[in-house]
Amino acid sequence: MRVLKFGGTSLANAQRFNQVADIVINNHQQSQIALVLSAPSGVTNNLVAVVEKTSQGLSADEHLIAIQKIFSELIQGLKETYVELADQLLRNTFENEISELTQLLEGVRLLGQCPPSIEARILSKGEVLSVACMKQLLIAKGQNVEMIIPQQKLISFKGGYLEAQIDIKASRELFAKEAIVSNAIYLMPGFTAGNEAGETLVLGRNGSDYSAAVLAACLKAECCEIWTDVDGVYSCDPRLVKDAKLLTSLSYAEAMELSYFGAKVLHPKTIAPIAQHHIPCLIKNTHNPQAEGTLISAQKSDQKLRVKGISDLKGLSMLSISGPGMKGIVGMAGRIFTTISRAGVSIILITQSSSEYSLSFCIYSNDTQKAIDTLNEEFKLEFENNLLEEIDVIDKQAIISLVGDGMKKEKGVAARFLMALTDASINVTAIAQGSSERSISAVVSEKKANEAVTACHHSFFSKAQFIDLFVIGCGGVGGALVDQIHRQQSYLAERNIAIRVCGVANSRAMILDVEGVDLNNWRDLLKDATDELSLVSMKSLVDGSHIINPVIVDCTSNDAIAARYVDFLGAGFHVVTANKKANTSSMDYYHQLRLTALMKRRKFLYDTNVGAGLPVIENMQNLFNAGDRLVKFNGILSGSLSFIFGKLDEGKSFSDVTSEARNIGFTEPDPRDDLSGTDVARKLLILAREAGMELNLDDVEIEQALPPGFDDTGTTDEFMARLPEADAYFKALQDKANEEGKVLRYIGSIEDGKCKCSIMAVDENDPLNKVKDGENALAFYSQYYQPIPLVLRGYGAGTEVTAAGVFADVLRTLNWKQEF
Ligand code: ADP
Ligand code: ASP
Ligand code: MG
Repeated sequence: MRVLKFGGTSLANAQRFNQVADIVINNHQQSQIALVLSAPSGVTNNLVAVVEKTSQGLSADEHLIAIQKIFSELIQGLKETYVELADQLLRNTFENEISELTQLLEGVRLLGQCPPSIEARILSKGEVLSVACMKQLLIAKGQNVEMIIPQQKLISFKGGYLEAQIDIKASRELFAKEAIVSNAIYLMPGFTAGNEAGETLVLGRNGSDYSAAVLAACLKAECCEIWTDVDGVYSCDPRLVKDAKLLTSLSYAEAMELSYFGAKVLHPKTIAPIAQHHIPCLIKNTHNPQAEGTLISAQKSDQKLRVKGISDLKGLSMLSISGPGMKGIVGMAGRIFTTISRAGVSIILITQSSSEYSLSFCIYSNDTQKAIDTLNEEFKLEFENNLLEEIDVIDKQAIISLVGDGMKKEKGVAARFLMALTDASINVTAIAQGSSERSISAVVSEKKANEAVTACHHSFFSKAQFIDLFVIGCGGVGGALVDQIHRQQSYLAERNIAIRVCGVANSRAMILDVEGVDLNNWRDLLKDATDELSLVSMKSLVDGSHIINPVIVDCTSNDAIAARYVDFLGAGFHVVTANKKANTSSMDYYHQLRLTALMKRRKFLYDTNVGAGLPVIENMQNLFNAGDRLVKFNGILSGSLSFIFGKLDEGKSFSDVTSEARNIGFTEPDPRDDLSGTDVARKLLILAREAGMELNLDDVEIEQALPPGFDDTGTTDEFMARLPEADAYFKALQDKANEEGKVLRYIGSIEDGKCKCSIMAVDENDPLNKVKDGENALAFYSQYYQPIPLVLRGYGAGTEVTAAGVFADVLRTLNWKQEF
């Protein structure tokens, strides 16, 4: 005999009923079958709502109509396939059950509450009707059907009317009394049991799995099969994580822990009866019967996984009891737990601090008041004498659990688990490890539960590392970045890095796509977009899809966006920026950014702020971390000024080379932005701050790349037309420099705590002497690098190199390393 159980998802409509009947008949040809059914999907939820509303004196019609619709469509659908189906009989059964239901509800309405004994009768109706339909369908398909009435056979010994637990020994004896009718298909409604008085009880939501396990134990079945809507048990809920791994086998203990800690695919009480009687359990997919499924048995698993699964259990509260009365007093824990159990509240997880000062435990949130009331009563004296502090309650919590027999004695599993949560910016309220070392659990905020499962799953099961980008500013650099990402996607995929651009915005509009914006035509999509840039929508996309490594990239030069980085970091985004405005605003904001990043464990990266793609900031930080100290700095920090002053070496006039630089796009559209020296000053300030100097932009002494007092007013064209008036000044400077064997360069320097941007003449031996044609160079004279400085040199501007620099920062956000 084999027991086959089909869940509500497998019985949603007539077509599914047919599918189930065929699977059963097929299997019945190999060995005798006992079939356990749930209510069709949605029916029990509606019955629960009916009870709730009626108890509150509200109308439950909407839910009754929904139930009626499900069954009348089901009966009609079945009749359409099988003309010989006894549909009238089914309709009568349905009417009878509904009229009994109506009577029960009338009582509930009068009482203003629903006693558990009545609630159990109401909730069990879905299964009764489900089985009635299947019976007629199997008969119509020519099968011989025998019914098992659970109220008469599955006898409960504890758990009350709504969470009944079955006395297997007693139930087995009842089954043993009757001979089995060979060749008949046995059929039993799931979720239901009886007590000594023959009353109806239910087994708790999702309890048909448990019915099947108990039936298998009672019938000494060779196998218990749970048929559902997925291919088996996965490493975590496949609805949550797309690349969840199918587990081919699980030990009884692993399956028990997974289901206990929330894996909905199995009711937590299912495993005990089959483990006790050594019955193998197979999880199969009704929609894909050929798939092998997951085998739960005493056998050793052939999948060499340390961690088998990750589950989450939501809707919990954590209660903590603390106070001097806890310390060293024998029996406190015992009293607490006895009190809680007396109140009929089940404890899901317990942790105690080693100081014995406090003890915390998790319970279902709807039991919280009950637990507090009984504890307050039991420990009245202790509370009055300040031996215990007021019970602390943290609600809306969830437990995330890692489960696997292979975790035993393995090092580093807990560390990796907690690191994955930390990297995803998830705070852990408490942790607990079973002494079997088969599971380890962390309590986290319920709203972070899905992210926590996703983050842990990535860490333990996936080689891939994910980055989800939101690019703000899609002009030169931002556009080039998105295109570079598009081109590099397959290269990075081979290295297990998946970058998704989930958002692109410019000053006018924003596009968001949780699956990743189509990078083949993102420019057109953005052109047609109408929604404006919004942190709220980016944040809700991240929260809704449980993205764990979101990065905002700022490729604008906008002050307002720079002023929002603290909000971005606070909302859980890493920030990568090419925009210099944040790092050159007030010292307060500068520190606040770094502090927020630290506290939120997010990265704030800005290597392109100075020298574009040249690895400037990271090198400086590495040196300073290693104990170096900046003594002096000289740098050519502007591509346009590098070009202009380099051309002066060739004897060209200042006005000509400035026009040339402008024509080939080396300068900003208005060259005064470059000649003013402010941009160089910003870069210099960023370097100085990096070296630990607390300075502001006003502290940087700026000498313009123009003669002193030069009239720089008017339109760009007017200014350009006036520029030849500056030629004589530069010619004189140039001649003087030449006489000394030097050349003119526009240099940003840091020395003796002062920052200065100015035109300087440098001799042949100076590292900046040969730097021209738009190249940048940065000479760091430090304690370690002297007398010869550390020089970084290369193009320090240009869309492609800058975008590549931003790209490098984006990749630096990958903060956990996989071990394989
Ligand atoms: P049924 O109606 O067959 O009882 P359930 O909805 O109760 O089905 O359980 C199946 C669902 O359990 C799956 O659709 C899946 O989303 C969910 N689930 C949660 N965790 C897991 C897991 N670790 N493996 C497989 N399914 C899981
Ligand atoms: N129908 C019940 C429920 O929805 C039992 C089950 O489906 O397992 O909870
Ligand atoms: Mg289920």
